[in-house]
Amino acid sequence: MIKVLKLLCFFLFPLSALKAEIHLNQLSEKESSQKMFAVIYQGYLKPGRENEYQEAWSKVAQYFIKYRGAIGSCLHRTSDGLWVAYSRWPDKKTRDSSWLGENALSEELPLEIRNAILIIKECLDSDPKISDLCMEVVNDLLLSSDDTESNLILSPEQERIMNLVYEEVEIAIQEGNPPFAAIITDSENNILSIAHNQANTKQLAIAHAEIEAIQLACKILGKKKLEGCILYANAESCGMCSTAIIKSGILQVFYGAPHEKGSNPDVHLLEINRKATPQLRVHGGFMREKFIEQINRGRS
Ligand SMILES: [Zn+2]
Repeated sequence: MIKVLKLLCFFLFPLSALKAEIHLNQLSEKESSQKMFAVIYQGYLKPGRENEYQEAWSKVAQYFIKYRGAIGSCLHRTSDGLWVAYSRWPDKKTRDSSWLGENALSEELPLEIRNAILIIKECLDSDPKISDLCMEVVNDLLLSSDDTESNLILSPEQERIMNLVYEEVEIAIQEGNPPFAAIITDSENNILSIAHNQANTKQLAIAHAEIEAIQLACKILGKKKLEGCILYANAESCGMCSTAIIKSGILQVFYGAPHEKGSNPDVHLLEINRKATPQLRVHGGFMREKFIEQINRGRS
C-alpha cells in the first residue's frame, strides 16, 4: 500500500501542457522557487504495458493537478527503457497534504483514479527496484520570472465572457460604483452570475464584484460550494475576494488588470493563492491595457 501511495505523486503530463500549468500557479518572486518541491520516480515497465501505463498516468496526473494542488509533471523514457517521472509542487506541505492517510486517501479518491493507480502499479516491473528521489527545487528558470501574465490564449467563448465583464464594469461606472466586475461560469463556460461592485449603491464596503458574483452563483446553483466553476474578473482580486474565491471552491480565475497598489490589506490573489490548498489555477493579463484604461477612467 505504501508503494501505491508513493505512486500517487508520480505523474504523466505532456510537456506542452506543463508550461501552461506553471503559469497557472505562477510564483512571481524569485526566491519562491526555492520553496518548490519535486519528486522523481523511476522504474521499468513490464513488456507491452507502455500505452496502458501512460494512459493511467495521464488520468492520475490531471486529477492531482486539478484537485490536489500539484503544479505539473512530466514523464520521460531513457534510451535504455527506464521511465522517469517528475512531479512538481509549490511546497512539501502541499504535496504531503495530498495524502490524507492510507484509508482516507483511498476512500476520497474517485474510483476511476483509484483504478488508474492500480493499473500503474501492475505495469511496473518491481525488479530491479530503483529508488525514488524527493528534493527541494532551489533554482528554476521556468518559475523565476517576474512576469505574472498568463501565456494562455482565450477561446472565442472566453473572449466573449471577458467582453461581458468589460460591459459590466461600464454599468458600475455609470452607477458611481468602483469600476470592477466579475462573472462566474460553470466548467463549460455557461454563465451563472454577472455582478459588479456595489459598495456605493449598497453602502457596504464588502460589496465587491467577486463577492456579489459568488453569492448570486451559489443562489442559482442552490449550493454553498462552486466546485469546478470559473471566475472572470477585470482585475486581480483583493485579499478579501481572493479568500472568498478560495473558500467558495472555485477552480480557476481569469483576470485582466494587475492588482492596484495600496489596497488595504495590501495582499492580492497571486500572493494568497500560494497559501491555498489546493491552489487556484490563476491566469492573468487578458485585455490588460483595455481594463487598466477602464479602471483609470472609472476612478477619475
Ligand atoms: Zn475585492
